[in-house]
Amino acid sequence: MERIAVFPGSFDPVTKGHESIIRRSVSLFDKLIIALGENAGKQSYFTLDQRLSWLHELFGREQKIEITHYDGLTVNFCQSKRAKFILRGLRTSADFEFERGIGQMNKLMSPDIETVFLLCEPEYASLSSSIVRDILRHGGDVSLFIPEGIRLSTP
Ligand code: ADP
Repeated sequence: MERIAVFPGSFDPVTKGHESIIRRSVSLFDKLIIALGENAGKQSYFTLDQRLSWLHELFGREQKIEITHYDGLTVNFCQSKRAKFILRGLRTSADFEFERGIGQMNKLMSPDIETVFLLCEPEYASLSSSIVRDILRHGGDVSLFIPEGIRLSTP
């Protein structure tokens, strides 16, 4: 059976941390679906179209990678795609506690889906989309933190 994984996230915006997790994990699966989740409780900074277009620019030519977006529960989205794995990155113990709660609830709802964690590269441990947004809001240069070739500007 095909090993299909979903990498869910807001990617608001995509960072070098996300890029690293995606590139490192692609060999683990037959197919990796980068899935931009619309979080009802969270207003995004960049539009859905803008966030998707950066992902397409970066990974659109990769054969094993699909890029899409979804609403609702991640486990329901996984079922609709026949994905048996959810991929998440871990930076800190705070990430671990947060992910443990979600991962275990997902496991109760869908016992056949496994959450797989990759430890982030040490140089990206402090990097988050929210820090990148803060730097942008204050007119700073974020080029060190976002993937090569991606140009961000304040929306
Ligand atoms: P969410 O709002 O679902 O956490 P994000 O876009 O912030 O969405 O993150 C998506 C995934 O990428 C999460 O698993 C997160 O832990 C991981 N991630 C975010 N930043 C980094 C980073 N710097 N290094 C490794 N993984 C990261």
